[in-house]
Amino acid sequence: MTITVNVTWQRAIQRAMREGLKATRCVDGTYRVRSVSHPGSHHIVTMDNAGRIDHCSNCLGWENGGRQRPCKHAGAVALAIIFLNGAHVALESVNETGIESRTTRSQLFQKVA
Ligand SMILES: [Zn+2]
Repeated sequence: MTITVNVTWQRAIQRAMREGLKATRCVDGTYRVRSVSHPGSHHIVTMDNAGRIDHCSNCLGWENGGRQRPCKHAGAVALAIIFLNGAHVALESVNETGIESRTTRSQLFQKVA
């Protein structure tokens, strides 16, 4: 499995790493990330049905940038998801198209005749 991380998400992940933010997965499938500006409180990061990060609670960064310019909490969650999936990360650079080969299901599970 390869997850392509585009430039804006790379920046979010880098900001999360700089702050030492870690996402904690909750029973309901959301993630909790500690707040930097309000120590002791947390942001709740939620996913949509397609498994994409679609909200960060009480977060000005997310309100302003959303998925186009994700906040560092979303970056921390993206990092956690990448690790949980054991995925290979392909970094999409500004000058490249980001096209790459992916491992398909049929390649992983070959039928034995
Ligand atoms: Zn946030």
